[in-house]
Amino acid sequence: MKYKIAISEPSEAIDPLVTNLSAYIAKSKRALIVTGAGISCSSGIPDFRSADGLYNLVKKKHPDIVLRGQELFDATLFRNEKTIQCFYTFMAELRSLISKANPTITHEFIQTLTNKGQLLRCYTQNIDFLEEDLDIPTIQLHGTMKEVKCTLCSSNYEFTDAYEKMFRAGEAPPCPRCVSIDVERTRLGKRQLAVGTLRPAIVLYNENHPNGDTIGQLQVSDLKKRPDLMIVMGTSLKIPALKKFIKQAARIIHEKPGGCVVFVNRTSPAKEWDNVFDYEVLGDSDEWVKMTNKKMANEKLMTQTANRLRRCVKEQDDDDDEEEEKENKKPARKTKSKKAPPSSVSTKTSSSKRAPLKRTLSKSQTTLQDFRVTKRRACTQKAGKAV
Ligand SMILES: [Zn+2]
Repeated sequence: MKYKIAISEPSEAIDPLVTNLSAYIAKSKRALIVTGAGISCSSGIPDFRSADGLYNLVKKKHPDIVLRGQELFDATLFRNEKTIQCFYTFMAELRSLISKANPTITHEFIQTLTNKGQLLRCYTQNIDFLEEDLDIPTIQLHGTMKEVKCTLCSSNYEFTDAYEKMFRAGEAPPCPRCVSIDVERTRLGKRQLAVGTLRPAIVLYNENHPNGDTIGQLQVSDLKKRPDLMIVMGTSLKIPALKKFIKQAARIIHEKPGGCVVFVNRTSPAKEWDNVFDYEVLGDSDEWVKMTNKKMANEKLMTQTANRLRRCVKEQDDDDDEEEEKENKKPARKTKSKKAPPSSVSTKTSSSKRAPLKRTLSKSQTTLQDFRVTKRRACTQKAGKAV
């Protein structure tokens, strides 16, 4: 982790870092955004893992069933008639909340990046389809509550008020397509087949995404376009496949000097993310967006800051080159290298012998690392003056 911006801190303390981060965003050409429940909270849709209100409501209707958090989104629910009813009641309450919700300031921020042609794609874990109310190119990693799908033939239909009413009563509506096939077979005097039921078109735990392959291909194609920025917002990063994608994307972004990877959430990420995120913004995503929008409205400040940050990276790059040259000129002496403790210098020497692509990667990582230590004070002080 390089820089921490705790929104709860006094604004003058975090202002220089907010300016720097805003400049990275303002000048980005190919941004990836990854979102989770945290960005929809202000629209009235709770984070399901802590949605006590919803669970209490379900509990009232099904007092004999104890299900909490993740369990209500688990495919194993479908093994038992009682838990199926519980699932449908929960989905009805969820749909009711979602249908009243509007996109948040954070959604509008993503829309603005889209309008400016800066957004490569938004990957969301949210099933509230608030991105669709706007015009954000989005991949819904966990499906959508906008539709229902047949458990048998996979036909999709709009999730209507009528379906919500049936769900609330704990009923699973029959699939219209399956029913019409069945009616036709009966008319022809053929053997009856099973009729599927409808459920929300969301991906449950212990279930594969029906479009998993397509999503995988899109991710590969997005990474080939060499994104220069990634903002991960409102997620506690628990899903293994998504974690892998974020780490892959971060590696590619860090190959480029000036590439930036940002985490925005109410709570800090686990230690495994220490070398993935350059900026960690702790707090509400809407609050951060408001601060960032203010900065980005000042085009002159953004250009000046971006130029200064570029110079910082370049200076550091030049310093690294000089050090590498010095090291390469030194005669290799076995005794000395044995005695010398492991240092950043010796790392750089070995990196210079690597293949070109690996060397670039290693070098940019070194640059970012050193940038934290040596340039932080100078850069943040200058930013303070510019504001
Ligand atoms: Zn069907």
